[in-house]
Amino acid sequence: MKEYKVVILGPGGVGKSALTVQFISGKFVERYDPTVEDFYRKEIEVDGYPAILEILDTAGTEQFASMRDLYIKNGQGFIIVYSLTSKQSFNDSKLIRDQILRVKGSENVPIVLAANKSDLTGPQREVSTEEGFNLANEWCVPYIETSAKNSTIVNCLFAEIVKEMNLKSNNY
Ligand code: GDP
Ligand code: MG
Repeated sequence: MKEYKVVILGPGGVGKSALTVQFISGKFVERYDPTVEDFYRKEIEVDGYPAILEILDTAGTEQFASMRDLYIKNGQGFIIVYSLTSKQSFNDSKLIRDQILRVKGSENVPIVLAANKSDLTGPQREVSTEEGFNLANEWCVPYIETSAKNSTIVNCLFAEIVKEMNLKSNNY
C-alpha cells in the first residue's frame, strides 16, 4: 500500500495538534501539550485508493528551527497551518513555505495551505478568505478553511494533501 509522509507545519497555537488529533481520533481536544512532537499513522481511502498516512505533528517552536530542516527533508507533503485569528501566523506561513522550497530545492512540492479556526468568526478574525485564497493561488496550491472541531473538514484536509502528493509525485 502506498505510504505518504505528511508534515504539519506552522507557528505555535494555530491548531496543528488539534487538527492532527481530530483526524486520528475523531475528537476535538481543547488542550494539547504545545511541546509535544509526535508521529501518527492512519489509513484512509482517497479517490477509491487506500493510503497510509504517516503524520508528523511538529511543535513549531523557534529553538527547533534547524530540526525543521530535517523534518522537511524527510517529509513528502506539507500542510502549512495558520490561524485566521492571527495575521502574524499568516505572515509566518510565507517563511515556512520559503524554507520548504529551499530545503527541497524545488518549486514542485506538495503543499496545502490551511486557514484554521474557521469556527471563530466576527471580530476575532484577522485574515480574510480573500487573503488566504490569493496566497494559495500565488503558490499554486489548494487552500482550505478548517476548524479542528469539524471532523468532515479535517478529513478533507488530509485527503487533499494526498491528492497533491499524487499529482506532484516527484521522488524527493
Ligand atoms: P499547535 O500549537 O499548533 O499544535 O496548536 P494546538 O492544537 O495546541 O491549539 C492551540 C489552541 O487553539 C488550543 O487552545 C486549541 O483548543 C485551539 N484550537 C485549535 N484549533 C482550533 C479551531 O479550529 N477552533 C478553535 N476555536 N480553537 C482551536
Ligand atoms: Mg501542537
